[in-house]
Amino acid sequence: MQEQNYLDNLVGVFGHPAAENPGVIIQEAAFLDLGLKRWRFLTIDVEPGRLGDAILGLKAMKFRGINCTIPHKIEVLKYIDKVAPSAKLIGAVNTIINDDGVLTGENTDGQGFMIALKDAGVEPKGKSAVVLGSGGAARAICVELALAGASRLTIVNIPKDIALGEGLVNILKQNTKVAVDYVPWVDTFKLPAGSDILVNATSIGLYPNVDDKPNIDYDSIGEGSYVQDVIPNPSFTPFLREADKRGLRWQSGARMLINQAALNITMWTGLKPNKDLMLKALEKALS
Ligand code: NDP
Repeated sequence: MQEQNYLDNLVGVFGHPAAENPGVIIQEAAFLDLGLKRWRFLTIDVEPGRLGDAILGLKAMKFRGINCTIPHKIEVLKYIDKVAPSAKLIGAVNTIINDDGVLTGENTDGQGFMIALKDAGVEPKGKSAVVLGSGGAARAICVELALAGASRLTIVNIPKDIALGEGLVNILKQNTKVAVDYVPWVDTFKLPAGSDILVNATSIGLYPNVDDKPNIDYDSIGEGSYVQDVIPNPSFTPFLREADKRGLRWQSGARMLINQAALNITMWTGLKPNKDLMLKALEKALS
């Protein structure tokens, strides 16, 4: 008689709100394709103040791992045993791996961006990058670019977020060799000559504000530059349309999100999922 094993391998996401997180669509499409019949990705609403209980539950139920999204990415650090060096610098964790009760924290937001760069054939070492925004995504991207040897980062944000921007500049200056400029974003921003990489790491353009685009002088983007948007929905934003119109190389935030989800799957299962299939599943769910 064949051995029966109905035990589920659990992963998922803790967030609040959580209902609109499309992680389950992407991850379960990959599990099915990989033949991982008993892997489940659960979308779990964990209210602020209950994260400690949720982590205890995760350990008790032997989850293999979990993603953390708003508002838990920073608070979760206090429940983690080992934090990856980049996640430590970023000051936030979005992926946890549970090895028999020992929790390791990673931040795959920036790593998903770095894979997008690699896929586009862009080597960040020695490059000069402009990053719009100074929130969580910007922080992860700047830290990864600096650790990968980018020579200069220009961080541009609105004056309301000046403390966030200056905090990020200090982290980069104290921990990496990158040269950093901070520019308050008060008017149409003109890119400095010699910039190689431009990233929109703000939430400008995110559904439902699909016609919005960052207030920059698009003609100042240098020829041959690489342009990245973090916005996953819609996948082709007005920001990217400007890059496309100018014949520049670009990649969408949807692709970056898939890179990140694929990394999570590899960290949890040891397997490499099919990213094209995951992207199709995401696009279908968002259409
Ligand atoms: P945060 O709220 O931490 O940061 C967003 C930043 O954008 C804030 O500093 C915000 O300023 C700024 N911003 C918003 N509107 C404007 C504007 N009109 N002009 C200038 N600045 C503005 O969010 P995250 O960094 O976590 O996420 C940002 C975006 O990145 C989201 O859309 C998210 O979906 C996406 N993301 C995508 C990932 C991917 O893999 N593709 C991964 C992680 C995030 P203020 O707070 O003052 O409004």
